[in-house]
Amino acid sequence: MKSVRRLVIALVLALLLPGGALAEGAVKNVILLIGDGMGFGQITAARLSLAQGAYSQLNLDTMPYTGLSINFAANNIITDSAAAATALATGFRTETGRLGVLPDGTPVQSILLRAKEMGKKTGVVATVSLTDATLAAFLVNADHRAFEREIAAAILAAEVDVLLGGGGDAFGINPFTKKPKSNALILQALEQGYTFVADRAGLLDMEITPDLKLIGLFIGGDMSFDITRLPTEPSLLEMAERALQVVSQEPQGFFLLIEGSRIDRAGHTNSIKELIGEMLMFDQVVGLALDFARANPGTLVVVTADHETGGLAITGGNPSGEGVTHGWAATAHTGSMVPIYAFGPGAERFTGTLQITEIPVRIAELMGIGDFPAAKEGQ
Ligand SMILES: [Zn+2]
Repeated sequence: MKSVRRLVIALVLALLLPGGALAEGAVKNVILLIGDGMGFGQITAARLSLAQGAYSQLNLDTMPYTGLSINFAANNIITDSAAAATALATGFRTETGRLGVLPDGTPVQSILLRAKEMGKKTGVVATVSLTDATLAAFLVNADHRAFEREIAAAILAAEVDVLLGGGGDAFGINPFTKKPKSNALILQALEQGYTFVADRAGLLDMEITPDLKLIGLFIGGDMSFDITRLPTEPSLLEMAERALQVVSQEPQGFFLLIEGSRIDRAGHTNSIKELIGEMLMFDQVVGLALDFARANPGTLVVVTADHETGGLAITGGNPSGEGVTHGWAATAHTGSMVPIYAFGPGAERFTGTLQITEIPVRIAELMGIGDFPAAKEGQ
C-alpha cells in the first residue's frame, strides 16, 4: 500500500510541476520573438544563403528545443496576424482581423499586460507600424485591426515601457519635420512621460536612464526592408538591443516582444532577396536574445511564427549553396504548421505538436501567472 501511495504522490507532483522539477515562477524574463510569416521554407532559404550553404548554422539552429504550432483561426484554416497574435498573446483562438477579443467580442487578457501587473518591465519592437496586428494583439482589445487611430490610443494607454517601430502617422508625427502635428497622440505620450525618438541616431545616442519610458517611431508607416533600410531607420537588431537595455534594468524581470515583421511582406510579394535579408536580420536578434539568456539565468527565449506566407519551397540546388532554386505557392498566408524554438528554464515544455493557444499558457505557467487564459475582469 505504501508504494501505491508513493506512486500517487509522485504522479500528483508530476502533474503539478510541468516539465519535471521546474517550479512555477522559475522564469523571470521572457523574450518572445515572432517571425511574421516565417515557415520552414523561409528558415531553410536563410540558412542556404550563408557561406557554408546547407552546412551553415543559423542562431535558430542552435536552440535546443523545438516544436510545431497548429495555428488555424476560429473561422478559417488560413489565419492572419491578428488572430494568430491574439492566440499567442491571450491563449484564445479567435476570428481573423480581431485583436485581443473572442469571436463574440469579449476582451481577453494579454500575457504581456499580465506580466506588467506583476511588476515586470514590458516592451514591444517591430519593423512595421506599431499599430499593426501582431504587437497590437498584445496591447489592446479591438474588434478589428483596421481601427488604426483607436489602436494607437489604446497602445499608449497600455503604458508599456518600450515601443519601437514604424507608425509615426498613426501617432500624429509630421513625416517631413518629424514634429508632432496639433492634437497628435505623440503629445499625449510625452505627457505620460515617454521619451520620443524619431530616427536611428536619436535611438543610438540616447542615454538609458532608470525608469525610462521610450517610444521610437522611425517612419510614417511600415519600416523598410533591411536590405534597403534608410540611414534614418535603425535595424531590428539595434532596436532590440536598446529595448533589452531598458527592460533589463528591472529586478522583477521583463516581458519583451520582438517581431520580425516584414518576413511576411516579402512573402506576400514573393521577393526572395528581401525575404532572406529579413530572415538573417531576425536571426541576429535571435542570437542577441540567446546571448542575453545565457548571461542571465531565468530568461526564457521562445521563437515562433504566426503563420507561413507565400508557400515558399526550396526546389533544388547544391548543398554548397550554389544554384539554389525555389518556388512560391501563394501570395497570401498558407495553412502550414509553423515552428517553435525555445531556450532557457522550461524550454522543454515547447516540444511536440502544440496548439498555438498553448504557447502563452505554458509561458504563463512558467512565469507563475495564475488564472490564464482569462477574460478581462469586469467585461
Ligand atoms: Zn501577411
